[in-house]
This record gives sequence, structure tokens and C-alpha cells, in this order.
Amino acid sequence: MEKLAIHGGNPVREKKIFYGRQWIGDDDVALVTSALKGDLITCGPYVDELAKELCRVTGAKYAVPVANGTAALHCAAIAAGFSEGDEVITTPLTFAASANCVRYVGAMPVFADVDPETYNIDPDSIEKCITERTKGVIAVDYTGQAVDHDRIRAICEKHNLTFIIDGAHAIGTKYKGQPEGSLADMTCFSFHPVKTITSGEGGAITTNDPELYRKLILASQHGITHNPAEYVEEPEGPWVYEMQELGFNYRMTDFQSALLISQLKKLEEFSDRRQEIVDKYNRAFSVMPEIIVQKEIPESKTTRHLYILQLNFDKLSCTRREFFDAMAAENVQCQVHYMPVYWFPYYQKLGFKKGLCPNAEKIYKGIMSIPLYPMMTDEDVEDVIKAVRKIVAAYRK
Ligand SMILES: *Cc1c(COP(=O)(O)O)cnc(C)c1O
Repeated sequence: MEKLAIHGGNPVREKKIFYGRQWIGDDDVALVTSALKGDLITCGPYVDELAKELCRVTGAKYAVPVANGTAALHCAAIAAGFSEGDEVITTPLTFAASANCVRYVGAMPVFADVDPETYNIDPDSIEKCITERTKGVIAVDYTGQAVDHDRIRAICEKHNLTFIIDGAHAIGTKYKGQPEGSLADMTCFSFHPVKTITSGEGGAITTNDPELYRKLILASQHGITHNPAEYVEEPEGPWVYEMQELGFNYRMTDFQSALLISQLKKLEEFSDRRQEIVDKYNRAFSVMPEIIVQKEIPESKTTRHLYILQLNFDKLSCTRREFFDAMAAENVQCQVHYMPVYWFPYYQKLGFKKGLCPNAEKIYKGIMSIPLYPMMTDEDVEDVIKAVRKIVAAYRK
């Protein structure tokens, strides 16, 4: 058996590889440069063009580019009208922002458990969480795989709930042939550099509902409208604009919009390469009883954001920490997505108790995200597989 790097052996590769990274090309740089040399570097033409492009890609009627994915979720929570005393159901297996946005507007998140095989929010668990206070569901397309839209939509219609998708992982994903972004009442995207396409920081909300669109614009732009047709009062002169609600400044700049327009052109190519890597990983790991492979959802044609390795502790004698550190020593830097949100001290102080969502907690204890991004070479992918095989061989029961 090969000696693990963590025990003084040679690492499978010399150069450290990380779990994700952006891919910025000369074409991206060229468009950003031209945006920077334009008359308007914010509130300019690239923002409008980006909104159109996002509508084209997602099939949504309206898109609002914003400063980041968290701002997108905040705006969606405002537009949905969530407020103090309301409950909004979400998943614990997500980045904190999916729940935090509910707290921003004074409402309380309620955590439904996840499916043990797909790791997405479980519609049966959503149903069990519904009370007379429930006002919405924020479902996360975890790793990019579309949630069970048909069932969640039906639950939301039955109980008159706003259905929001946190699609931070899922730009480009399709559910039963329909692009994510056009299916729920609102869909929020993130364009952080680890996500599939990036604008540095960036996000967007898409919707088909003109009233929600109006509210999203207000929420993200100080609550101000420049449209005379919407004014409540007769304008005193052409300088007048009207602040109708308490909003935020969550605008995306024109040069960020330009970067994202350029990145969107490569979404399909990025998505295909990600799937190719996922297929290689699945082929390698599905034959290893020590590794549990995340189930692929047949209804979802996925742009995969993360590849999750789950350790089967019935077959391995190491802890997750030992495996994770051993990977790092082989120069494969993993990450964990995610610790259940309600385990954070902030949510513990609000009264959430460990043990609330047993499936999410069990999954959390065994997972790590291994490198997945389109710029990886086949050699990089082989290195990651080699590292996993080497460590599994060392700790096999
Ligand atoms: C990245 C992410 C966010 C937040 O997006 P930012 O652009 O970093 O604010 C929200 N939800 C999920 C599931 C994410 O992965």
C-alpha cells in the first residue's frame, strides 16, 4: 500500500488544487475594458443587456441584476412580503444566506429535512413544517440539481405560499426541459467566483410576475422609481423621482454586468465540461463501497456546481477530518458544503437545537466537496481520483 502524504509519503500531485475556481478569458477582459471606457460604469447599457440575456437563458420574463446572491435573496424576501411573525421553510444543507434573508425581514426560517440520496429539500418534510404562519418556501438546488418543482409547487399552491428558488448553484440547470429561473415565483442566482459563471460579486433575481418585478426593482434601488406612470404624487418637475418604499442600494455595476454577459456565452461549454468531470468521478466512485455517490435526479439536466463525496463509515476506519486532512496533504484541497445552518451560534441563540434534521446532519458528518471546475484538466481529475483511491485503500476496514 502506498504511504499517504500525511504520513510522510509522496503526494499524488505537486501543485495544490482547490475545490473551485473561476475561468476568466481574454474575451471577458475585453468586454469589461470596453464597459469601463463607456460613459456610464453603473446604471448603464450593460446592466440592461445583462437582464435581457438572463431572461433569454432562464426563460423568465423579468430579471434584476444585483450586487450578490445574498442581496438577491434579501430582495426576494422583501418582494414576497415576508415579515415579523411569518415562517419561511428552507433547507439546513445550504449556505447561511438562504435562511439569513428571512431574518433580514424579521421573519423566522423553519428547517425542513433533506432527501438522504439527493440531498435536496424533501417535500414530505416541507409539508410537516407548515403552520398557519407559513408564508413561503425557499428551496435550494443543492449542487445544481433541480428540486422537485412539481411537488413543491403543488404544496405552495395548496397553502398559498410564495415559492422561491435559491438557485445560487443552478444557473443553466433545467427541470423537465424548462430552465431554472422561469419555474418558481422568484429564482435567486449568485455569480460569486466559485459559482459556474462569475461577475466577481454578483447576483440576480428572475420572475414572470410583473408585480414582483416592480417590487424587486424598488427593493434593490432605494425604493425609488423613475417611472412617472408609477408616481403617487404629481411631479413638480423633471428632476423628480419618487421613493415609495424603504429599499437598498444593491445595484450591479456595468463592468460587472459586462463580465457576466461574456461569461454567459460560455455557460453551455462550462456546464458540459462540469458534467464530463462528474461522469468521470461517478464512474470511479460508484464502484467503491467506501464512497456514497450523490444520486442524480433524472428530471434535472444539471449544471453541476459541486461534487460531493460522502464517506461510508461502515467501510472506512477514519474520521471525516482524517480523510479531509489526508486529501489536503495529497495537495487536493476540499471544502465542506455545508454544516447545517441551524448549528451556527446565531441560530442556536434563536433556540434551534441540534438533532432537528437527522438526514442533513448525517450527510454533513460524512461529506466533502472535491475539486470541480471547467478549467480542470483530465490529469487534474485523475489526480483527485488517485488521491481518493489511495486514502480509501489506507483506511479500508
Ligand atoms: C453562494 C451562495 C449564496 C450567496 O451568494 P453570494 O453571491 O455569495 O452572496 C446563497 N445561497 C447559496 C446556496 C450559495 O451557494
